[in-house]
Amino acid sequence: MSAIQIPILDLKPQYWTIKAEIQAAINKVLDSGQFVLGPTVQQFETDVAQYLGVKHAIGVNSGTDALMISLRALGIGSGDEVITTPFSFFATAESISCVGAKPVFVDIQRSSFNIDPALIEAAITPQTKAIMPVHLYGNPAAIARIKAIAIKHKLKIIEDCAQAFGAIYHGTCTDCKQNCDDAIRTDLIGKKIGALGDMGAFSFFPTKNLGAYGDGGLVTTDDDDLAALARMLRVHGEKKRYHNEMLGYNSRLDAIQAAVLGVKLRHVAQWNQKRRAVAQIYNELLSEVDQVVTPEIVDGHVFHQYTIRILGGKRDTVKQSMADAGVGAMIYYPIPQDKLPIYAGQYPDNAVSNKLSQEVLSLPIWPELAVETQQTVVRCP
Ligand SMILES: *Cc1c(COP(=O)(O)O)cnc(C)c1O
Repeated sequence: MSAIQIPILDLKPQYWTIKAEIQAAINKVLDSGQFVLGPTVQQFETDVAQYLGVKHAIGVNSGTDALMISLRALGIGSGDEVITTPFSFFATAESISCVGAKPVFVDIQRSSFNIDPALIEAAITPQTKAIMPVHLYGNPAAIARIKAIAIKHKLKIIEDCAQAFGAIYHGTCTDCKQNCDDAIRTDLIGKKIGALGDMGAFSFFPTKNLGAYGDGGLVTTDDDDLAALARMLRVHGEKKRYHNEMLGYNSRLDAIQAAVLGVKLRHVAQWNQKRRAVAQIYNELLSEVDQVVTPEIVDGHVFHQYTIRILGGKRDTVKQSMADAGVGAMIYYPIPQDKLPIYAGQYPDNAVSNKLSQEVLSLPIWPELAVETQQTVVRCP
């Protein structure tokens, strides 16, 4: 086995292009002596809210905290149910369980890897309080359909935006086009994810499309009261210093991360464009390959991951031969959330999610990935 020559992700080429800007921004924070929240964080919150098209953006410690704070701000807790997808990183369901509510898993669509809106209504009970769609791999979920259901049943929507910073909803998914109220769809088309539901939760983990150089997260909302609650929850439930009104968290964004994110925000649209171009090239290179299903390049998709399906039970063999050839590839996710040991035996099967967890393979992708490297990647299996 050779040493890995092509990793699944390389963050260094991006850093080289912005090194001077980043170092200047960090130095400014070092000189200011203000390291947690403060003016640098406020500036980033203003800029990112404007970029996303939301009224409020609240910087927090991680994407996981952003999800928990969103749930708590909406008053969701013990005895409540939240409908979500089984096919995501555990932080999605974990946030629901951590606030004391119960995640209810609704199976996914084969084409988008996202929650299947056609199956949501059957999962609603009197305890259901919210729907938490995940825009997996950077692909916007069928949000118009989800919104129509939420309105009908008086449910809240919390978007898990961790993998999809900058993604735009275009309403091109078949489900929204065929089954959704035109007024709802039209109202949402062209908006960025995080501005589509009641609250949005972003992660700035370094590997995400907008990544810090450490942990970070963001809560978004258009609602003044929810924003005020989120701001309290991130600092121990206080509005006024040392006048704690509720149980909160220590979940503040730090100024160095905000400074880094402020620099990167100026470039992220261009990076997302490049990710789409990388995906387009992979799709062309793989179009003739037997038993490989390439992802749909829908409008607004920002390709946090480029994920193919390998049919015929060959996924693990392909992954191994790629590893032997020095190419990194990853399985996101090998075990659906409902099948994780923590929830063992508690949930019925989700056939599509179970099947896709056996078929998916994510290939190396980052904005600066060269075509020649992509050619090496696809030649490998
Ligand atoms: C990364 C991720 C999270 C959690 O974000 P952290 O910043 O690592 O806490 C939540 N949901 C999804 C889908 C993610 O990919």
